[in-house]
Amino acid sequence: MTRNSRLRSAAVLIAVTLMIAGVSLVRSRPLGAQGQGAANEFNDSHFHLTNYVQQGIDVPAFLRIMANRVSRSTLFGIPLQQQWSYANSGDYAPAYYLQSDAPLYYYSFTDAFIASAYLKLTPAERARFDPMITGFNPADMYGVDHIRRVLTTFPGVFTGIGEFSIHKEFVSAKISGETASLTNPALDRILDFAAEAGLVVILHNDMDMPFAKEDAEPIYLTQMKALLARHPKTTIIWAHVGLGRIVHPVRVSAEAAERSPGQLELVEAMLTNPALAHVSFDISWDEVAKYAVATPESITRVAGILNRYPNRFLFGTDTVAPAGPAPYYAVFDIWTPVWRLLTPEASFKVRKGNYERIFDEGRRRVRAWEAAHVK
Ligand SMILES: [Zn+2]
Repeated sequence: MTRNSRLRSAAVLIAVTLMIAGVSLVRSRPLGAQGQGAANEFNDSHFHLTNYVQQGIDVPAFLRIMANRVSRSTLFGIPLQQQWSYANSGDYAPAYYLQSDAPLYYYSFTDAFIASAYLKLTPAERARFDPMITGFNPADMYGVDHIRRVLTTFPGVFTGIGEFSIHKEFVSAKISGETASLTNPALDRILDFAAEAGLVVILHNDMDMPFAKEDAEPIYLTQMKALLARHPKTTIIWAHVGLGRIVHPVRVSAEAAERSPGQLELVEAMLTNPALAHVSFDISWDEVAKYAVATPESITRVAGILNRYPNRFLFGTDTVAPAGPAPYYAVFDIWTPVWRLLTPEASFKVRKGNYERIFDEGRRRVRAWEAAHVK
């Protein structure tokens, strides 16, 4: 045995011993040290612990992914359950809404599940999470009562509501019962209560229909703006800047460009509207990231709007039960060309500062509401 191979054998022996002792060399090394990112690089304003069949990862597994690269994160499941209909897919167990023609239904137990997972954490671990209530039906006038009941059953846990959806490509039409609508008073009751209790709202609503025609007015934009304007005291984050997988950015032809605004112009018009000062946008979802970095021009335009309105955007991954660090951090890393063009102020606020401002205020106000209402 040469000196080098003896050293190698010793190193292998030490590694095996540490692994047997439950110490993973990879896990204990901070992710930032792997050249992948920096410590405390971002807070995640949009994270799903579980999927459409209520399966996922546990919070300790997510904490290992967060390591020291992510300081804080929202924590929610998915309010909808994909039914496994034997008549539809037989022995095939669908795990995603596109894998079955059977309906989705509201799965309210998700809130108890998230609260229990959070309550198992140490106080220091809890401080890193903002659990959100999602298991209510926004088309039900009683939906708001579910939210109030969750707060009084699990005081000290939740910061907000969402991500919940009104119009979502492929999903809205599959939900059993009445289809949700931006004009339903059941939704107004929910947003009124969010204002009263200080709950931060993460709302998914596609701005447009799938495969919309060029130059057409986005069909849900007018209703959405009216809804937001009706609730000026509610802190609302419009998820994914209103985009979807195939609900693409609003496009205008060269001839129409002078009169029809494109996606970023529509968003900018909202940002300069004083009646919508309570609305922020999350730039979560890899589909959104792909639109942003599609061309050098899109990168410049997106960086420009983030730099001009640094207080109004939040980064989020929108990952669903990621299996490990690779799929989780991929979303953040797609944005690298945009991060490079941001001012230090905009970069800090979009990655971390706006999260802290909005969710800290939500925590403070919800705890105060609970103190006054939970006997
Ligand atoms: Zn989401």
